[in-house]
Amino acid sequence: MGGGLSDTDTALMSSSPPPASTAAVQVQAQQLAELLKKSECTVALTGAGISVPSGIPDFRTPGEGIWEKVDPMAVAHIEAFRRDPAKFWGFYRQRLQMLGDKEPNGAHEALAELERRDLLEAVITQNIDGLHQKGGSERVIEVHGSIRTSSCQSCGAEFPLPEVEGLFDEQGAARCAACQGAVKPDVVLFGEFLPERAMADAEALAARADLMLCVGSSLEVYPVAGLPSVTLGRGGRLAVVTKGPTPFDREAAVRMDGDVVADLDAVLAALA
Ligand code: ZN
Repeated sequence: MGGGLSDTDTALMSSSPPPASTAAVQVQAQQLAELLKKSECTVALTGAGISVPSGIPDFRTPGEGIWEKVDPMAVAHIEAFRRDPAKFWGFYRQRLQMLGDKEPNGAHEALAELERRDLLEAVITQNIDGLHQKGGSERVIEVHGSIRTSSCQSCGAEFPLPEVEGLFDEQGAARCAACQGAVKPDVVLFGEFLPERAMADAEALAARADLMLCVGSSLEVYPVAGLPSVTLGRGGRLAVVTKGPTPFDREAAVRMDGDVVADLDAVLAALA
């Protein structure tokens, strides 16, 4: 990694002096660009931080997260859904609408661009907002499910997000158009297992990756937080682009902790 540094330093000195932080970002972006070019298989792992610039607060942000206003165990638990679907939907209907209205930001678009340039194999995400697909990413593994569809718990019928609003009965519960069964958003609720297929795909990708690009995740929520170790364990590298500390900061080959959009823009600029 040290090899590319001198060129960058020279380039920075020859132009008008930018603020120190900008220079540091450019050096890190250059290092990450080199890793991306050398890697045969790069996988991104994203968390709530990548969607914050789209107006979706990270639930860890004090005073902003939705879970400060409501008790997740009371409203977003699978048992709460089974016990009283109308009450569950009383909370979740708004949440679905709020998330469904959001637009991808430059960080989502940067990852889509890396995929188009064959520099990124897939995105593994903890987010349920569907913004990677809206931003143009093709291969997205959603380990916590997604709001993009809701499914009938009786017959399995699947309803895309725009159709869900038409399924509500007088009590305020979403009912299957075919069999009147209870319809649940295809997100992983508290008390539910993660989707087996998605987790298996995520682990297989982590085991194959030369480079795992972690964006907007504190890498603290298991089992997803175990994926960087899988990549490190096979001799791959880690790049961590997120605000705030993570348990992998010391092992990361590149560590960027500014605004995710600005940081990934700098990486794309360094690749150009
Ligand atoms: Zn049904």
